[in-house]
Amino acid sequence: MTRLAICPGSFDPVTYGHLDIIQRGAKVFDQVIVAVFNNQSKAPLFSVDERVHLLEAVTDDLDNVTVDSCSGLLMDYASDMNAQVILRGLRAVSDFEYELQITSMNRKLNEEIETFFMMTNNQYSFLSSSMVKEVAKYHANVSDLVPDIVEKALKQKFKQS
Ligand code: ADP
Repeated sequence: MTRLAICPGSFDPVTYGHLDIIQRGAKVFDQVIVAVFNNQSKAPLFSVDERVHLLEAVTDDLDNVTVDSCSGLLMDYASDMNAQVILRGLRAVSDFEYELQITSMNRKLNEEIETFFMMTNNQYSFLSSSMVKEVAKYHANVSDLVPDIVEKALKQKFKQS
């Protein structure tokens, strides 16, 4: 049986923290779908297409990883894809409560699909897309935080605005 995990998120934009979870997940599961969710309440900087494009570029070397987008309910998407697992990353304690709430709700919606958490790599514990956007806005160096292609895309965005 193929073990398929969905790795959902906003990925606005993808950081080395996300990439680390995706790479490690790809070693544990047969197939990983990185699903970009269109959460308008977060007022994204990058469009869904742009986020998908950046994720595709940075996961290009991972044969069992594909990228998709979705605007509905995660559990509906996961069940349509026949996934057994939702894969999420955990950073600090602050992530925990939020994840606990979502996971409890998701289990109510579909108890067949398990949520797996991977602890962040220590070097990325305080790395988030919002942090990256905040510093990139002021043209600070983000080369340790995001892949080159993402750094270029951020420069382009903040040049336009
Ligand atoms: P969401 O809006 O769903 O929280 P994000 O794009 O912020 O989407 O995050 C997607 C997933 O990646 C979440 O599980 C989040 O905890 C995880 N993640 C984000 N940044 C890191 C990081 N630096 N280390 C580990 N996991 C991370």
